[in-house]
Parts: sequence; C-alpha cells; structure tokens
Amino acid sequence: MHLHTKVARFDAAPGDANRPSSTPIYQTATFEQESALEFGRYDYTRSGNPTRDVLETRLAELECGSFGFALSSGMAAISTLLRAAYSLEGTAAGRGRLVLGADLYGGTTRLIERLLAPLGVDVQRVDTTSLAAVEAALHSPPPGPTWVLLESPSNPLLRVTDIAGVAQLARKAHARLAVDNTALSPYLQNPLELGANVVVHSATKHLGGHGDVTAGALVTRDAQLAESIGFLQNAEGSALAPFDSWLLLRGMKTLAVRVAQESKNALEVARFLESAPGVQRVHFPGLACNPGYALQQRQARGAGQLVSFETGNRELSQRLCEETELFSIAVSFGSTNSTISLPCRMSHASVPEEAIAMGRVAALPADLVRLSIGLEDPRDLIEDLKAVLQRATNSAARTQTAPVPIPG
Ligand SMILES: *Cc1c(COP(=O)(O)O)cnc(C)c1O
Repeated sequence: MHLHTKVARFDAAPGDANRPSSTPIYQTATFEQESALEFGRYDYTRSGNPTRDVLETRLAELECGSFGFALSSGMAAISTLLRAAYSLEGTAAGRGRLVLGADLYGGTTRLIERLLAPLGVDVQRVDTTSLAAVEAALHSPPPGPTWVLLESPSNPLLRVTDIAGVAQLARKAHARLAVDNTALSPYLQNPLELGANVVVHSATKHLGGHGDVTAGALVTRDAQLAESIGFLQNAEGSALAPFDSWLLLRGMKTLAVRVAQESKNALEVARFLESAPGVQRVHFPGLACNPGYALQQRQARGAGQLVSFETGNRELSQRLCEETELFSIAVSFGSTNSTISLPCRMSHASVPEEAIAMGRVAALPADLVRLSIGLEDPRDLIEDLKAVLQRATNSAARTQTAPVPIPG
C-alpha cells in the first residue's frame, strides 16, 4: 500500500456494531462489567480505552511497528521510555549507560541531566553524526543496559545521523537504539525500518499538526520492551485521555498532505535564504550543499519543514522574529502556520547552564533562528523574510557599522 493510502484508510471503530466512520470519543472513566469475576476488554480508561486503542494501532502502523503507545506528552513518552529502558533487564536503578546525541530537544536534555544522570546512569553526549564517536562511547559498557537516544535531523541544527549505521553499532555492542522522530514524522522517516528498537514522538508537532493538542507516542516491535512501557503507562497513569486521543486521530488523517506540502514550502524558503542578504549559514538537509544531504536522501523521504540559519548578528536575528509579519514567535513546530524562534532563548533555554559550562551540552549559536514552515504560500513567506533582511542591510549600510560579532 502506498503511504498516502496508509495514512488515509484505517478502521475507525473496530467491532462497533453501529459502524461509525469517525472514531467515537469514549469519554468515560470506567466500563460496566458482566460479572464481578470476569472482566471484559475494557474496565477503566487509565488501563485501556477504545478511542486510545484506535490511535495506538494507527501509531504502530504508521511507524511500521507492532506496539504503539499514546502518552500525555512527548516528555511523558521519553520519561516512560527511559524508565522502561533502565528496568528492563532487572538491574538496579543507576546502572547502565545512555549515549545521547549532542543536539537534542531542550526538554529531553533537562530531563536526563536533572533526573537520570543523578541516579548514576553513565550519560555520554556524543556527536552521533560521527559513527566513530558513537562506537567509542559504546565501548566497554558498564553493567546494566546500554541505550542510544538521538534525533535525526537534530533540532535546531538539523544535523543528520546515519540511523542504520548507529543501529548496527548498537546491536554489536548489545545496546539498544531509540530515535526521536518528531522532526520528520512517520510520513518522512521510519526509524524501526532502519534498525532502531523504539521510536519516540512528540505528537504535539506533526502528528497532531494543528497546534491544539499535547501528546506523545512510543512505537516498538520488541514485545518485552512493550510490556514494560505498557506497565508504566497504566501504573503511572500517563496515558493520553480519550478526547486528546480523538484530536490526535483527527489531525493524523491529513498528515501526508500537510507534511508533503510543508516540506516543499520549506525547501523553497531554504533556497531563498541560501543567497539572502544578511544570512551567513543555512541549516537544512534538503539543500545539496548540506553535509547531511546524501544521507538524508537515502534514509528519509524528504528533509522536513524545519529550517534554521545564522545571521552572525544577534540583533538582526531578534529583528527577524519581531518584524516578520507572517511568522508568529512561538516554540514548537509542525503546525499549519509558520513560526519563528530563537532556540537559544526559547525552546532550548531549559538546558541547565551547568551542563553547558561543563561541556556536556554544546551551546547553540546565539544568532540561530529557527523557522517552522507551514501551509502558507512560500512566496509570501519569502517576501516577508526578504523585507526585514533588506531593511536591516540597508540601515547597516547607511550607518556604516559592521554587523555585531557574536562572541564565542
Ligand atoms: C517538542 C518535542 C519534545 C517534547 O514533546 P512535548 O509534547 O512538548 O512534551 C520531544 N522531542 C522533540 C524533538 C520535540 O520537538
């Protein structure tokens, strides 16, 4: 089945005698039982709910996995995964190693630095775009489970990691690989097909797609890991609520057309930025000059809709955020409207300063601007960016001042 068909066609209400064509919202906390001794399929929504079940089946299908889980947020998904990961083999808390990509969502870094590292898990940050660096970090793992967690393309620098290459190294070292696939969505990339053991999503982004629901997802083919995740989802009550599950299902119906169009628009914006006045460096794996271009072409079906760039001038970057008219200043991405942000000040401001000071986490360029490209006509987006860039370059030329250099 082709991808667009797979996204559009699904059983909206399995087993429902009324054959609804859209999944009903089972907005109920509990389900009546036939007898006090024998329970039916559903008894309590924390443990299972038909609306969430349809969603979890969809998530597993779209990520080519066997077990899907919908959680209350992307962070809840990552937190659940980490605890499932480090209790899997019956080892005591605080044993094991986590090899982390150098460029990760700020909230993930915060969770690991503040909650997991203090438990004694040996956390190693490496540039996962280098397979040699990954191999070195996997060398002589301590007792206990070893995991690799990465994003590709990473956010906000959009650097591409060879997922199949890392998966192979992990397998050789008896480690497991988790890939946060939020930036591309299952429409553009399927990490399980490349050898990852589990896929993570902030479904708040592309899967939901309309900026109206906070949700997370985990998908795996590993029955043992799935059992552990399912246990935590029920025991801790982190499962996604019925109404939010329905919103996510509704958003996912148009995943294919949204992401396809947004990625096309993003490529046009990135091409404009490449030669725009005042722009020094564009990060977008869909540009042929990007070091990750060939790899991205090989392992994914597109480059996504995030574009980041450096101006060499912090004030200009701030002006772009404030003076563009079609880009709202907002964290997050993957919604129908375009947004602009300064990752250093916004989405990644939660990275603990000590972690940066100790060199555990690389500092982001202060002038980095990240765009999330939506469904607007790209010609309008380009005009909007061009107007601010031209105004800024003209006024810089008038006052004869060089751009303010960024220290360090
Ligand atoms: C947003 C995001 C998260 C966190 O997800 P929430 O739904 O906000 O909890 C995790 N990873 C990536 C890559 C993200 O962009």
